[in-house]
Amino acid sequence: MRVAIIGGGPGGLVSLKSCVEKGIDATLFEKEKSIGGVWAPCVGKTWNTLHTNTSFFSSMFSDFPWPKETELFPDQHAMYKYLNDYISHFKLGQYIKVSSGVNQVDRANDGKKWVLKWTDQQGTQVQDEFDYLIVATGVFSRPGKHDILGLDSFCSNGGQVLNISDYRDANLYRDKRVLVVGTSFSGAEAAGEIGVTSKYPVIQLINKPYYVMKKMTNGRPIDSYLFSREASDFVTKETDITKVLETIHGFYGMLSGQNENVESLVPDKSLPPYLTISNTYLDNIKNKNIDILLNKNCDGFDENGLLSFTNSAGQREKVKIDTIVFCDGYLCQVSFLPQEVKDKIRFVEQDKFLPLLLHKCVFAQDIPNIFFIGMYKGPSYGSMELQARWVSMIIAGQVPYPSEAEIKEGILEEEKIRQQRPRPQIPHPHHIPYCDYIARKMGVYPDETKLQEIYKTYPKLYKMLYNNLMNVACYRLWESIHIDPNSFDQIPCASAVSILESIEDRIYKS
Ligand SMILES: Cc1cc2nc3c(=O)[nH]c(=O)nc-3n(C[C@H](O)[C@H](O)[C@H](O)COP(=O)(O)OP(=O)(O)OC[C@H]3O[C@@H](n4cnc5c(N)ncnc54)[C@H](O)[C@@H]3O)c2cc1C
Repeated sequence: MRVAIIGGGPGGLVSLKSCVEKGIDATLFEKEKSIGGVWAPCVGKTWNTLHTNTSFFSSMFSDFPWPKETELFPDQHAMYKYLNDYISHFKLGQYIKVSSGVNQVDRANDGKKWVLKWTDQQGTQVQDEFDYLIVATGVFSRPGKHDILGLDSFCSNGGQVLNISDYRDANLYRDKRVLVVGTSFSGAEAAGEIGVTSKYPVIQLINKPYYVMKKMTNGRPIDSYLFSREASDFVTKETDITKVLETIHGFYGMLSGQNENVESLVPDKSLPPYLTISNTYLDNIKNKNIDILLNKNCDGFDENGLLSFTNSAGQREKVKIDTIVFCDGYLCQVSFLPQEVKDKIRFVEQDKFLPLLLHKCVFAQDIPNIFFIGMYKGPSYGSMELQARWVSMIIAGQVPYPSEAEIKEGILEEEKIRQQRPRPQIPHPHHIPYCDYIARKMGVYPDETKLQEIYKTYPKLYKMLYNNLMNVACYRLWESIHIDPNSFDQIPCASAVSILESIEDRIYKS
């Protein structure tokens, strides 16, 4: 049984590791000269000062803890090193082909297997056959079409256009009047950095106001508030759509603190809430390093290449802009897949919100030997790990492939998500219930009975599982039961407990 994994970012790597540990013959293909995906400096999607927006506990695999002394929000270099260390630790290098971009995938003569065609390191076209295909090429494939009225006029008047993936260093814009377009996490960070460094305030063009959360809130990383079972239960208990909106607005409002005091960022509570995470963004707006411009007040560029808009005092204004940095999202690209697959997954390249329709973001309708890992907006290391563990168990025959009815129903759910208007920020917002679903399918959900059994030995465990930041190590607690020679009780897997304890020590004790 041979498995091909396309993509060497976190999703592809955890897929490889999960297959290898099950004894599956797997090969990973990465088109760049190095693994790491978004985090590989050679790929250029990150910039010099970029740090993760959530703590490293949310950007890690459950069986490979970060070194104890790691800063809570590691930078891109630390993240890249983490992924390389993961490869060394699990001896994965031998299964990885870098500089090996897969150009085309076709069905083999038997109509079932896959034939992969790739260009190897010598530039030679090579092909080989595989029984299973795991697609982990990510959703950040290439910038989308930039959309602002009069862009041609801006360019023909000498304006410079960048995508956030071209952004490296705010110092390059000291003397530039910069317009940042977009509300992505990167947009908030780039606007802040440039606004502080440049002689001129940055104008940031946004669709709608959004909540701004700081990376640290009340001495704790923001992910510890967003991703606990306690918070998840609070947000998901409501089913009535109006009440759901109210609850999430209330929750985000509580976490974003001073947002309401910034006039340009008062959220519209009748719409789904949007959020961004930045330590300096609100201060930069208050200190006039960033001027927020709502789309509805902007007329685009005039025939002289000047940005034309109505300012906050209701007056018409025209200003010169030297550089536009577009932070308006990426498109997902799977051009190497055969049309048969693209049709089945209902692939829409221009749909930044939900480009593929898959059951549980993993399974394609009617094609049981292809799987997708991390191919949705907002995957975490944890959810990709669970997807990968699930898929490797299916390939190894340890758990069943989902039934036809399950897949059909799952894809119907995705269709509804695709049709949502107005579109929320995140198509699949319920991270913990999603992980729990997969864990149940794999038989590794930390269920109540087991918890009670163990409660006497580890009274702290319940708090660590329910109130604390969720880490996917919780799905390894009973993976291999250890026997305590002194008490003869069953105790949970020591390495998983030690990760949960390190979260308790680092976040909740200090
Ligand atoms: C600027 C920025 C900041 C981010 N910050 C965070 C953060 O703080 N925390 C967080 O959790 N997430 C963050 N993310 C999200 C990030 O996408 C994920 O952390 C993670 O990298 C997703 O992993 P992936 O493997 O799905 O995709 P990617 O990391 O995109 O990896 C996909 C890989 O597939 C390869 N590939 C594509 N096509 C082919 C082909 N045809 N043949 C062979 N190889 C191919 C690509 O070269 C790439 O290496 C950020 C993203 C960006 C862009």
